[in-house]
Amino acid sequence: MSKLPNVSTSIFTIMSKMATEYNAINLSQGFPNFPVDERLTDIIAKLAKENVHQYTPMAGYPPLMNQIAKLVQKSYNRTIIPETEILITAGATQGIFTSILALVKTGDEVIILDPSYDSYESPVLLCNAKPIRVALNDDYTPNWQTIEKACSTKTRMIIINNPHNPTGKILAEADFVQLENILKKYPDLLVLSDEVYEYITFEEKHISAHTRKQLLNRCIMISSFGKSFHITGWKIGYVVAPEHLMIEIKKVHQFLVFSVNSICQVAISEYLDIVDVTKLGKFYQEKRDYFKQLLSKSRFELKPCQGTYFQVASYESISDEDDVTFCKRLITEYGVAAIPISTFYANGKDLKLIRFCFAKDNTTLEAAAERLCNI
Ligand code: PMP
Ligand code: GLN
Repeated sequence: MSKLPNVSTSIFTIMSKMATEYNAINLSQGFPNFPVDERLTDIIAKLAKENVHQYTPMAGYPPLMNQIAKLVQKSYNRTIIPETEILITAGATQGIFTSILALVKTGDEVIILDPSYDSYESPVLLCNAKPIRVALNDDYTPNWQTIEKACSTKTRMIIINNPHNPTGKILAEADFVQLENILKKYPDLLVLSDEVYEYITFEEKHISAHTRKQLLNRCIMISSFGKSFHITGWKIGYVVAPEHLMIEIKKVHQFLVFSVNSICQVAISEYLDIVDVTKLGKFYQEKRDYFKQLLSKSRFELKPCQGTYFQVASYESISDEDDVTFCKRLITEYGVAAIPISTFYANGKDLKLIRFCFAKDNTTLEAAAERLCNI
């Protein structure tokens, strides 16, 4: 008997595989295709000859944990204790999985907003807990009234993703006020805040859960160096949580992986001395704007994008096919891969929307746009 009967191969795997098969330009799965900062590759080349190839301590390489504490202090003016409040994980994915496994019990309910990134539901199901999907409003803001109605003493966790994949929406101050009001009513309710795109925001300022005093004792923060340093394949992320939750999270981590890639942790800890993460927003804002300009003559209608490196587009004026069929045809006939937005909805809601990843060099964006403008 399958423990996850309704789960199949992730859409990111399916679309990237098809893109390779048909030699299409891959704007589907989210990963950059431009070179990594040479200063970082130089560090890792130097480290390859040093003594950095054995296990790090279970929770992470201590200098990297200190660097993360410094980064959080600098970015959000929050003081965290590296030894007790940080865990380095194999990407954000493992941080999310480990935290849910450690903190959610049989029969608990977990609120997942709809549409949503695909990593949240399966760990909840594996805990014999119940995912409760609550629809975002049409403009992708959370509907706090519906969320509150969905809450009860059974609700163990609310998962937020800010900036939001796939819509690029970011949460406003008023959203946090409403979330905090709900938390006051349910003392055992936790928040898992997936902020992997925390430094990729544009006109509006990103408000991190790190800055919300009322959340700090109840919140598990998820980050990923994959997004911030263009190194998705290194799979290094981290969790920040208060000690009483982190004790439980570490118990699961030590048997899931024990510790994660040593040389990459050492390299990132050195790189953090010289890199400026605050430049990332401007870098991707220019990419977003360039991609938008390139597609201005196409028949796609581009939706607002406040953060992340994803652009949602409507193809309503091009085709009335469902979005999965349209994306497959986009690859086979036009040579561009994208992600159908229906796959982010629990019930596969088809709104004729697709997601393009614009974390690509300009030549790739130009070539893709040329094809997309000819549809
Ligand atoms: N959360 C979100 C919202 C993501 O978009 C991604 C990656 N696309 C992850 C988590 C996973 O990050 P990582 O590759 O560091 O595991
Ligand atoms: N998070 C990436 C995206 O949204 C994909 C990561 C993965 O393939 N699991 O495209």
